[in-house]
Amino acid sequence: MSVENALHTIELIRCAGKAASAYRTAKHDVREAYEEHSATLAQLQHWTDQNRAMGGGDRASPVRCALLAADHEHHEAARKVRRAEARMRRASAALQAQRPALNRYPSERNRRRATTLLLDRLADHPVDLIRAADLIIIQTSAGKDSIVALHRTVAAAKAAGCLHKVRAMHCDLGAAEWPGVKELARRQAERYGIPFLVVTPDGGFLGMVDNRRRWPDAKRRLCTSKLKRDPTGPVITNWVAELGLDRQAIVVNVMGVRGAESPSRALKARLSLDPRTTSANRLVLTWNIIHELSEQEVWQEIASNSLEYHPIYDTGLPRLSCVYCVLAGPDWLILATRVCFALELTLPDTYAALERRIGHRFKQDFTLNGIIAAARMLDAIEGPLTWRRGDALRRHLGPAAADSYLAGLTR
Ligand code: SF4
Repeated sequence: MSVENALHTIELIRCAGKAASAYRTAKHDVREAYEEHSATLAQLQHWTDQNRAMGGGDRASPVRCALLAADHEHHEAARKVRRAEARMRRASAALQAQRPALNRYPSERNRRRATTLLLDRLADHPVDLIRAADLIIIQTSAGKDSIVALHRTVAAAKAAGCLHKVRAMHCDLGAAEWPGVKELARRQAERYGIPFLVVTPDGGFLGMVDNRRRWPDAKRRLCTSKLKRDPTGPVITNWVAELGLDRQAIVVNVMGVRGAESPSRALKARLSLDPRTTSANRLVLTWNIIHELSEQEVWQEIASNSLEYHPIYDTGLPRLSCVYCVLAGPDWLILATRVCFALELTLPDTYAALERRIGHRFKQDFTLNGIIAAARMLDAIEGPLTWRRGDALRRHLGPAAADSYLAGLTR
């Protein structure tokens, strides 16, 4: 099956799934309305009998009004069912015309399986996927995984002769991030000559916490959904509109997610349909282009291609996240605080003051005040933290790789 046909089939299956779900909802509505209608009819009969017994009918009785309302609901639900039935018929006709084999996948489970199979095959042919796409967006945090994802996407786009389709976007979380992140993300995009957009959600991370008077946590990661995921939708809408297509656009959204990072990330597919952002005018696929890479392989790719990484990795911190990430453990947070001391950043005080003001602990098990006290104590015992440019590569690949990388950067 060609890439175009696979994408078209994925869209048909998606429409069939939507129609099936609308049909189920409408059927449920009509059943409820029917039950209410029957119950009200029984009541009406009761009051009609009563009225007759009393010598006349009351046309404005509450029961009659209730019946009329139930009648209306019933008609409305029946209309919805007819509409859903029409959609189902259209989707089925399209499926039958395009892919008779899809009749084998009438259930939700089969639709999901068929979609997964098709997406898996597409992920095996990145160059063809890029050729078929109208727009390729790289969401970059400027971290080590993002730069490798960016590098690989650009390489595949160049191989496909489609570099003009690639754009990068970065969500700026404001003061919560390490200095220089936004500027680094821009330089990384400029290296390949691709358009770069910074999205700045209102208030950033600290503003969101201040408004909610709560820190996010692993179960309610509002920071990711509100500050990183939600702003993506309008950007895709604008960029798709700029394409001016008279058909559904194929959008590939590249992320630097790796399976080795966590059990939940290991479960993510290399390529998946984004049902939240997909609509009639755009089919959006999420492409975890480096899903199978280990941390070591990421560093190897950075070194081999002289990709500029953020100096914060040289301190021993494993991720270029917010300085204080709500998912980080105490060791990581203490190290981040010591790095702030060494860089003379005031962020620890800002966070500690916010924690006191909102009266909600940064983590259930400890406060940021406790983390800052522990960092001060370690600084007093061991002296301030020091590090050298290239330490991240020295740790992962050895001193020779670090020296050659640094020499490559200055050339
Ligand atoms: S880095 Fe951590 S705190 Fe910052 S947005 Fe991501 S999950 Fe939330």
